[in-house]
Amino acid sequence: MLNKKTIDDINVKGKRVLVRCDFNVPLQDGKITDENRLVAALPTIKKLIADGGRVILCSHLGKPKGEPKPELSLAPVAKRLSELLGQEVKFAADPEVVGPNAKAAAAAMKDGDVILLENTRYRAEETKNGEAFSKELASLADVFVDDAFGTAHRAHCSNVGVTKYVDTAVVGYLMQKEIDFLGNAVNNPKRPFVAILGGSKVSSKISVINNLLDKVDTLIIGGGMAYTFAKSQGKEIGTSLVEDDYLDYAKEMVEKAKEKGVKLLLPVDTVVAKEFSNDAPSRVVEGSMNADEMGLDIGPKTRALFADALKDAKTVVWNGPMGVFEMPNFAAGTIAVAKALAELKDAVTIIGGGDSAAAVNNLGFGDKMTHISTGGGASLEFLEGKELPGVVAANDK
Ligand code: AMP
Repeated sequence: MLNKKTIDDINVKGKRVLVRCDFNVPLQDGKITDENRLVAALPTIKKLIADGGRVILCSHLGKPKGEPKPELSLAPVAKRLSELLGQEVKFAADPEVVGPNAKAAAAAMKDGDVILLENTRYRAEETKNGEAFSKELASLADVFVDDAFGTAHRAHCSNVGVTKYVDTAVVGYLMQKEIDFLGNAVNNPKRPFVAILGGSKVSSKISVINNLLDKVDTLIIGGGMAYTFAKSQGKEIGTSLVEDDYLDYAKEMVEKAKEKGVKLLLPVDTVVAKEFSNDAPSRVVEGSMNADEMGLDIGPKTRALFADALKDAKTVVWNGPMGVFEMPNFAAGTIAVAKALAELKDAVTIIGGGDSAAAVNNLGFGDKMTHISTGGGASLEFLEGKELPGVVAANDK
C-alpha cells in the first residue's frame, strides 16, 4: 500500500496547486483519439477544485524535443478537459511553458479556477531534470501534486526536479490507485496469481519475466516473444519474430520456472502466414512451421489452453498482445484472452498500459477489468520490481 501523503492529507484552500498529469494522449488532426488519460485525471482535479485550490495543470505531450511544435500543443487537451469538467480550463499558451503568459494566468486565478500550462517538453531541460526549469515550475505553486503515473519511470523537471523546490509534494488519486493496484497484485496477490506476457520482444520484458517468476503461480507467454522461446526449444519458427541473443535466456527462464514450481505456458499452435499483412492467407500450425511462414497469432488450441489456465485465477496481470492484434485477421488470440479475463468472477484483473490497455478498451472489455493502468512503460518497470523515480520523489515534505 501507498505510504505517501496524498491530496486527502493536505489543505489546498486558496493555495496554488501545481498538478503534474499525464495528458500524453494520441492526437489525429488536432483531435484526441483516446481520452482515457484525461478521464483518469478527473477525480484529482475535481477534488482540488472542490477544496478551493487554484489548480495549475501541467503535462508533456509527445516528443517535441525541446522546441515549441504547434501540432504537439496541449490546447486541444484544455478544450476537452473543460468539457469533461464542466468548467473552463484556461489554456496558458506560452512557448516558454512558464513564461509571461503562464505567470499572468496563474496570478489572476481565483479559488477553484483551473489552468493548463503548455507542453512541458517544449523546454529542452524538462527531460534532463534541469534545475532552472524545475525552479520555474515550482515558483508557480505553493503545493505540488504528482498524478502522472505514466511518467513515473522518468526523472524529469515536472515530476522529480520540481519537488526539490516546493514545501509540499504529495500524490494524487490516480497515482495512488495505480500504485495500490499494481503493488498489491505483485506483492500481496490473492492466489492463484497468473501473469500473461505478450508483445513483440523478449528483450523489453526480460526483467519482468525474471521478477514475475518469483511471484506468480502461472506465467503465460504469447505474442511475438513466444517464438524466441519456441526456437530455444528446437522448434522451426520460419520467419517469425525472434531475438537470437535471447535464446539462452529463454532456456534459463524455462529452467527457473521448473525450479520455482511455476507453471509456464507457451503456445501449442500458431496462426501463420507468408506475409506480414492482414490479407495474407493464413493457416493454423501445431509444432513446427515452414521456413517461409511467420507466426502472427496464437492458435485456437492455445486460446483454449490459456483460457483454461485463467479460469480459477484470483489475480491476473496482463501486459502485451497475443498476436498482431492491430490486424483484424490476427486479433483472435488477444480477443480470446481479453474475453477470458472479462468473464472471471472474484478476480483482480490488471492490465498493464500501452498496447494491452488499448486492445482491451478498443475491444469493449474495459469496464470488465479491475484496473487498466495509464502507464505502459511505468507499469512494466513496476512489474520489474523497480522503484519509480516519480513515485520516490513525490515525498511528503
Ligand atoms: P510490445 O510493445 O513489445 O508490447 O509489443 C506490442 C506489439 O507486438 C504490437 O504492435 C503487436 O502487433 C506486436 N506483436 C504481437 N505478436 C506479434 C507477432 N507474432 N509478430 C509480430 N509482432 C507481434
